[in-house]
Amino acid sequence: MKLTLKAGAYRGGGVILGLVPAGRTPSQLRIGGVAVPTLTVPEVVGEIIHTKVGAADLLLVSVGLASKCTTETIRQAAGIAAGWMRARSVSKGGLDCSPLASLGIGGAVAAACEGLLLGDFTFERYKSNPGKRKDAQVAVLVDRIRSADRRALAVATATCAGTNLARQVSHEPPNELTPVSLAAEARKLAGKWKLKCRVLTESQMARLKMGGILAVGKGSAAPSRLIILEYGGRSSGPPVVVIGKAVTFDTGGYSLKSTDTIVGMKYDKCGGTAVLGLMRAVGELKPKCRVIGIIAAAENMISEAAYRPDDIVRMMSGKTVEIVSTDAEGRLVLADALTYAQRTYRPRVMIDLATLTGGIVVALGRVAGGLFCEDDGLRDALLESGQRTHERLWPMPLWEDYDRLVKGDDADLKNSGGRWGHPVIGGVFLKSFVDSKIPWAHLDIAGTAKVDEAKPYCPKGATGFGVRLLMDYLMGL
Ligand SMILES: [Zn+2]
Repeated sequence: MKLTLKAGAYRGGGVILGLVPAGRTPSQLRIGGVAVPTLTVPEVVGEIIHTKVGAADLLLVSVGLASKCTTETIRQAAGIAAGWMRARSVSKGGLDCSPLASLGIGGAVAAACEGLLLGDFTFERYKSNPGKRKDAQVAVLVDRIRSADRRALAVATATCAGTNLARQVSHEPPNELTPVSLAAEARKLAGKWKLKCRVLTESQMARLKMGGILAVGKGSAAPSRLIILEYGGRSSGPPVVVIGKAVTFDTGGYSLKSTDTIVGMKYDKCGGTAVLGLMRAVGELKPKCRVIGIIAAAENMISEAAYRPDDIVRMMSGKTVEIVSTDAEGRLVLADALTYAQRTYRPRVMIDLATLTGGIVVALGRVAGGLFCEDDGLRDALLESGQRTHERLWPMPLWEDYDRLVKGDDADLKNSGGRWGHPVIGGVFLKSFVDSKIPWAHLDIAGTAKVDEAKPYCPKGATGFGVRLLMDYLMGL
């Protein structure tokens, strides 16, 4: 979908979309310049009234009760409208948010744009008969075009394109999308958005003694890759480094997953694909700060070369790790990426995101990601970005009480500490690879990276969680 700003009444054809609060429509309400007859708008967010006024095709979409309306209900209503348009192959329209103006919600128009752009996403490239509609063109109607509107639309467009890119790559099946082809995607992106891209092969990682990521990928015919995307920023100084786990398929290795839990493990790359989508948005929006995106990509398979429980692996940091579960592989690939990031960039802030543990899904469901962070400023900033974007996080502890659970018997550490508190154990394991002077946050997004059923602005599957959240954070720096 392509959005453009337009001042004044709408005459572009297709549908006229009005986002309106629930209740009787006020007299003399005009949507896109069309006089709306008196109607009762339902309370359910996203419920649609489709009516004709003369030749105009009018779509009124409820944002719920005025008293409960937020940027999120606006996003949802617009997302449902985008789905409605797609389902009916409507390729043109005008969006009028003016009925929301009296509610005084900051960012209402931007949220509506986000809802449209995100709600328009589909993944159909493997279908024999994909939807044939060309990219829809929607005019965002304003009384006059202000530079703030231009900026808001540019931000929404770039972050949603990043989110949809993350979704698209996440949906790619593991027989097509390997660490090597993920690296090719990153290279393509770097070329388009003028980022620097470096890809470390297995022999280069062996020279750097990255025993963790190499152990995880050993069982796969597809070699592992460490993918680095650099954005130079408009100011010098140490960068923000964002690291994503991209296990392109996770069988669990010899700690094999069950028939039920192995399905959907292509989504174990969603931390990495979020970094890819984020760097696309960074390349377009050019924030002030330097940003480095690192994607640790490996496939966790079984073969005679695969690593096994009881192995002791030497990590890039020099620490040794006893393998208790080959299914706790994400922390191994991330730990080496964290060490690499610290040695190469001396980051001002380091954030990793990963579909790390099933335990975080048990704890928080599909509503919020787990936030592990002991730096107050970074934690607060990420929580606020989560609220603004509705990619919400909830704080989890990293107390020293948990440290003994990752102490190895015959090695420095072990990679799993049993069932109790295992999302925290994942965080504590990673913490032992981070210099305590560097503000660092670990986001466990196993619950939020995908949805099992369609949501107002996200079809079933990958959500792209993290792109809008982290872009909001980066633009605040
Ligand atoms: Zn696993």
